[in-house]
Amino acid sequence: MKILVPVKRVPDPYAKVRALPDGSGLDLSSIKCEINPFDEIALEEAVRIKERDPSAEVVAVSIGGGESEEQLRKALAIGADSAILIESPSKFDSAGVAGELAALASELKPDLILMGKQGTDDDNAQAGPMLAAKLGWPQATFASKIEIGGGKATVTRETDDGSETLELPLPCVITADLRLNEPRYVALPGIIKARSKPLERRPSTTNPTPMTRSLRFEAPPPRAAGRKVGSVDELVAALKDRGCL
Ligand SMILES: Cc1cc2nc3c(=O)[nH]c(=O)nc-3n(C[C@H](O)[C@H](O)[C@H](O)COP(=O)(O)OP(=O)(O)OC[C@H]3O[C@@H](n4cnc5c(N)ncnc54)[C@H](O)[C@@H]3O)c2cc1C
Repeated sequence: MKILVPVKRVPDPYAKVRALPDGSGLDLSSIKCEINPFDEIALEEAVRIKERDPSAEVVAVSIGGGESEEQLRKALAIGADSAILIESPSKFDSAGVAGELAALASELKPDLILMGKQGTDDDNAQAGPMLAAKLGWPQATFASKIEIGGGKATVTRETDDGSETLELPLPCVITADLRLNEPRYVALPGIIKARSKPLERRPSTTNPTPMTRSLRFEAPPPRAAGRKVGSVDELVAALKDRGCL
């Protein structure tokens, strides 16, 4: 069983990110970057599947500049068997990522693509569904529990009403939600072992035209101080004053 896990390099979610003075992008020059937290959860789940079934193989893949090798080395330290860095000078949007991953999946023929439900930088939650659509594979998004067996995946996923359980034939695409698991701490033996695992660098094959364009980046206005009201009537009046009711 081969599991492909896309790993995105994103700014540390706890770092304060600022827009460039000309609004053309974000100033990431001095920002620490991490594996997208949802991808780390997906990777942890893939490694747990491999621990239950040692014949399973986990391949981590990242699309981006050479610096994404740092996140792939961490993925190898967590337990991926090998890694592929698809290098591209241009930034891909979700559709571009889905196209590149679909091309790779057609070559590697994984049984399962396990990825994050969204990137914590762009917050699109589109790459997984777009990838499944491009491949014509079934998909389950926002997974909080996954069981693999008998050529199928049984996935519990969170919905706005609670949760639902789906059965999907393999191959399929599953996107991980926060409650799927708690990623392990990366120990020194894993980091040392990762140095001798294969990490292939190859150029992008699709070079897509982005479907989306960022017009301008700017910081949101600072929040105004709150105001305490003494009663429900006063609250309703204040909301009416502001045109909220
Ligand atoms: C457990 C859980 C907790 C959450 N907590 C929060 C929270 O605290 N804060 C927060 O901001 N978000 C939260 N969310 C996320 C939020 O509920 C969803 O992200 C949001 O509803 C997604 O809206 P959407 O329109 O993008 O997607 P969806 O509602 O999934 O819609 C996706 C697409 O489906 C189609 N569609 C859906 N409904 C219709 C319809 N009625 N008619 C026609 N087409 C339709 C449309 O094409 C739509 O764009 C939570 C989600 C879950 C599952």
